[in-house]
Amino acid sequence: MFKDQDIQIIAFDADDTLWENEPYFREADALFCDLLKEHLPPHVVSQLILESQVKNLPLYGYGVKGLVLSMIETLGEITNGKADFAMVEKVMEFGKTILNKPVVLLDGVTEVLESLRGHYRLVVATKGDLLDQERKLKNSGLLDYFHHIEIMSNKKVADYRKLLKHLDCKPENFMMIGNSLRSDILPVLELGSNAIHIPFHITWAHEMVEEVPVSDQFMQLDSISELEKIVFIDKVEKGLEQLNTGNTISHTQVKEDVKHFGK
Ligand SMILES: [Mg+2]
Repeated sequence: MFKDQDIQIIAFDADDTLWENEPYFREADALFCDLLKEHLPPHVVSQLILESQVKNLPLYGYGVKGLVLSMIETLGEITNGKADFAMVEKVMEFGKTILNKPVVLLDGVTEVLESLRGHYRLVVATKGDLLDQERKLKNSGLLDYFHHIEIMSNKKVADYRKLLKHLDCKPENFMMIGNSLRSDILPVLELGSNAIHIPFHITWAHEMVEEVPVSDQFMQLDSISELEKIVFIDKVEKGLEQLNTGNTISHTQVKEDVKHFGK
């Protein structure tokens, strides 16, 4: 795994990789369905919001503001334009509630970042509303761990290519970690980079894909805590190989890495 790669930059997705996000969107979805329960069953309303959101992605992008506008549009469609303004206000309130949620880090995130810091350049690569992601990063207390923050309008191959160019990093030296196969993994593998998928317990329907990659540059983990083990095994093995071939890496550095891995 990652044997022939020399990973220098590790990039993390943010929502549902570093902190909780999808549960807040599900709560808003349930409230919206409840608001319209006189008109349509919840699963139908939910499907209509999804369709509206996906249709509007090219215009609004990812994030809470796009969700609210899509909900208002769906509200109009379901009520044939007869919804009163109090209902629109409720929808806006659903969005504000998400924007005021606390940032809840996933288990093990801080410990892993602490371990990797100084050994790799750490980056955040996330979609979402600019202001909201800035707020979450600030409130997360994680900002100091990162060399660079990239808030992206999309996560397709071309977007990652642009990011790597900006970071002056070759594809083989880059590793992306995230919960979405569609956004965090498949485009990164296509580019020739490395990727680790850490599924979150729930995923937005639009991010779901059937295809599970088969590649020696890909791995799936159950939790972010396992990451430390994986990347440090890789680093330590490489260090030992370099020692055996008389390369310049110091014995002290390898021992430090082993110690780090074992802690
Ligand atoms: Mg995510």
